[in-house]
Amino acid sequence: MKIFNSMSRQKEEFVPIEPGKVRMYACGPTVYNLIHVGNARPIILFDVLRRYLEYRDYQVTFVQNFTDVDDKIIKRANEEGITSQEVAEKYIQEYFTDAEGLGVRAATIHPKATENMEQIIAMVQTLIERGYAYPVENGDVYYRTLKFQGYGKLSHQPIEDLQSGARIAVGDVKENPLDFALWKSAKPGEPAWDSPWGPGRPGWHIECSAMSNRYLGKTIDIHCGGEDLQFPHHENEIAQSEAANNCEFVHYWMHNGFLNIDNRKMSKSLGNFFTVREAAAAYGYETIRLFMLSAHYRTPLNYSAEILQQAQNSLDRLYSAADNLKYLVENGGEGALNQAETDVIATFGGYRERFDAAMDDDFNTANAVSVLFELVRAVNSATAADNQPTRAGAQACLDMIHELTKVLGLLYSRQEENLDDKVEQMIADRQAARAAKNWAEADRIRDELKAMGIELKDTKQGVQWKKC
Ligand code: AMP
Ligand code: ZN
Repeated sequence: MKIFNSMSRQKEEFVPIEPGKVRMYACGPTVYNLIHVGNARPIILFDVLRRYLEYRDYQVTFVQNFTDVDDKIIKRANEEGITSQEVAEKYIQEYFTDAEGLGVRAATIHPKATENMEQIIAMVQTLIERGYAYPVENGDVYYRTLKFQGYGKLSHQPIEDLQSGARIAVGDVKENPLDFALWKSAKPGEPAWDSPWGPGRPGWHIECSAMSNRYLGKTIDIHCGGEDLQFPHHENEIAQSEAANNCEFVHYWMHNGFLNIDNRKMSKSLGNFFTVREAAAAYGYETIRLFMLSAHYRTPLNYSAEILQQAQNSLDRLYSAADNLKYLVENGGEGALNQAETDVIATFGGYRERFDAAMDDDFNTANAVSVLFELVRAVNSATAADNQPTRAGAQACLDMIHELTKVLGLLYSRQEENLDDKVEQMIADRQAARAAKNWAEADRIRDELKAMGIELKDTKQGVQWKKC
């Protein structure tokens, strides 16, 4: 399995620190508003990366943080007249709504900056003790960038270039313009935590170093994020973690390319964005997922109505193939496999190999998706009505499709709900509520059923229901 490492700018064979285990960290969202489709790109891609590693029998510990204290959150809180914690909690819930819609599994751990203050403060303190950081009079603490030997190694910028571009601002309290804040002293009305340097809050970069260290250890296998995070965020994370721990921070750095709109990065600041919520309302969440997987994660990807429409059509084809096979599993011939089925099943190993080869080649989901759709075409023609498909043949084809869609995280959204089971469960809940003399709850369930168009009738045989 090869991964393009942004540090070496080469594809490298993946060798985990501990055999059979992968520790990966992704920089998560700052929770102050709904995520846009650009933000969804890393979220979807790193979910597939994790699924593929699991398919390859690795035990994956995946940490994705929430930045829940930050200028933008504070601004939002002031605008809405609520606390920044309330803003963060609200948008964490909104994040999970979108992530679930997109078929993105929750990470193993979703730590929050505000729940890791002790670890953050301890790391800042270590950096001061080691001479890599200094507090200033106003209570801020800065990282002494020039002291860290490898600064610029990830973004491939010589320190001289960085220095020539940096200017010290009037009234700046830093020793050097390249120094960055580890701790910011509290301003009136801002959330603050006690620290050895007075009340304040952490800078953005330190939280990822502290949380990665806490949950995954000093050296991790994979760290990922969008390519805009390479500098300064990831460069600063390296400077912090490697200076504090005196060892390599990350073995493989992975960065996704931008989602563009009219060839410009989709972003909040440019205002050229669609929220995931808006795009999902127009095309469906799963269409967005398939659209993202149809390009290699490092290439730029353009967002347009036409491309989303195409993705939606492709998804329809995938669902109709699966639905047709499901129907045949129930209603196909009882007998042994026919010739067309035997032939197509014989090709499955080849599809599997090509799928794995695509994913092993730096997670080329674009090629993997092509293999899936070739498989769909082959299966469709092998199980066409003229061939008198069998139940056994349909089941084998359906299993093969599921094998690949499970890795990509597709075919999850259009499951037909089994109405009978759901109604029976609600009736049972209502009976239990009545037995407990909880009339309000019993009435609530009856009303809910009514809203679903279900009418209840009490009979000697028990409660019966019908659609009205
Ligand atoms: P932000 O909200 O800008 O902090 O971004 C959160 C995550 O989304 C980071 O990993 C960014 O790199 C990523 N991101 C933001 N905009 C885009 C975009 N247009 N295309 C791809 N990734 C993006
Ligand atoms: Zn980070």
